Amino acid sequence: QHMTTAQIRQAFLDYFAKQQHQVVPSSSLIPGNDATLLFNNAGMVQFKDVFLGAESRPYNRATSSQRCVRAGGKHNDLENVGYTARHHTFFEMLGNFSFGDYFKQDAIKFAWQFLTEVLQLPKEKLLVTIYHTDDEAFDIWHKEVGMPEDRIVRIDTADNFWSMGDTGPCGPCSEIFYDHGEHIWGGRPGTPEEDGDRFIEIWNLVFMQYNRHADGTMEPLPKQSVDTGMGLERISAIMQGVHSNYEIDLFQGLIKAAAEVTNAQDLEDKSLRVVADHIRSCAFLVSDGVMPSNEGRGYVLRRIIRRAVRHGNKLGANGAFFYKLVAALIEQMGQAYPELAKQQAIIEKVLRIEEEQFGKTLDRGLAILEESLAGIEGDVIPGELVFKLYDTYGFPADLTADVARERFMTIDEKGFQECMEVQRKTAQQAGKFGADYNEQLKSEKTTDFKGYEAVHYSGTVV
Ligand code: ATP
Ligand code: MG
Ligand code: MG
Ligand code: MG
Repeated sequence: QHMTTAQIRQAFLDYFAKQQHQVVPSSSLIPGNDATLLFNNAGMVQFKDVFLGAESRPYNRATSSQRCVRAGGKHNDLENVGYTARHHTFFEMLGNFSFGDYFKQDAIKFAWQFLTEVLQLPKEKLLVTIYHTDDEAFDIWHKEVGMPEDRIVRIDTADNFWSMGDTGPCGPCSEIFYDHGEHIWGGRPGTPEEDGDRFIEIWNLVFMQYNRHADGTMEPLPKQSVDTGMGLERISAIMQGVHSNYEIDLFQGLIKAAAEVTNAQDLEDKSLRVVADHIRSCAFLVSDGVMPSNEGRGYVLRRIIRRAVRHGNKLGANGAFFYKLVAALIEQMGQAYPELAKQQAIIEKVLRIEEEQFGKTLDRGLAILEESLAGIEGDVIPGELVFKLYDTYGFPADLTADVARERFMTIDEKGFQECMEVQRKTAQQAGKFGADYNEQLKSEKTTDFKGYEAVHYSGTVV
């Protein structure tokens, strides 16, 4: 049966409330309890300390629809946007959690009941993966749920063994996939073609079972826990009978609005999907208090805005357009997230200023890039050029990489980093002789953000 995205979100929370779960509101995109995490990227983040036993709550079952951003750090899907049917920079993760209460059996049964009875998905289109040694999960799926053996795939990689870090709680997971049909490229999980979009992962059930010590040994946890996450947009696509997340109600609304403000003609244009994706992460990041800047979270935001502006420009936008999509976003998501409407004016202002500022150098930078490309042999854009575009025209390296990819080219990331290093040294050198008190003040005022999960350029401060 057809269900809107809003209806599915509600049906999920209602179902788990009925199973004695406390409905907990989404927490901010800026994790309050973890200075090493760039953005909230999963439903479990706000419960991390509860899982660790460092915090207790008046309930031991919870459910939420958590806003997530995966655009930097360990989970970075920025480069996937526009290329896969299933990845966004911003998405909502539906989850149910057990803090030392139920374990594998109920976790699997709840998920199965929700999918096949509440949503009435055809059983034969679903298949699951388990961690290769997890016979307990196999037996529940096979003997209790009745899943045929050939649709339970044993996976022996870290994909099916979840851990929060090198030490701490960890355990096997079981993931549920939906088969969108033979006409779409991609193989079953565990095959070389699994990265295609035929079998789409919809729900990850994590069974927190062990505590891993520094020496690698794993000790069973006194209280076993459950953490699950299902992508709302992915399950909406299934319920609305479409393959790509970008075809669901919510995204169709955003894509139409994006086409209007950019003068785009072709509603299938990949750039429209990118713009529709990016307005969600950018608006929600601003709404949660992130401001465009040259470092940390603010730089991730700046990079996403600039990418959106570049794609809008490619579609034919005349002047600032991105901020105009905030209204369309509120139309789609304002009911679930009333804070968006409350902050409409400020979100629009922040986006417009950033956009206008970048708009001044974008055309010139693109022209330089275009000219230079004509003279390049091979398919790698030299690091010096990437650096010049960054330094003079405000092109984040990933934006240049995005342009490159459209021409089946890549950027010389190492060369770019070397240029950055030279610049950093020069700046340091200059600092030694003429102390810049403003800089010093600025660094004293920086937030408590302590680190990054990855050294990949898209997660680093550049
Ligand atoms: P994938 O393998 O497709 O990248 P994942 O294994 O990285 O997904 P998990 O970390 O297991 O995803 O997150 C739980 C669920 O959240 C996924 O099963 C999926 O439904 C959803 N999800 C994850 N990343 C995204 C994303 N970038 N955009 C939309 N939904 C996502
Ligand atoms: Mg992923
Ligand atoms: Mg996966
Ligand atoms: Mg997964």
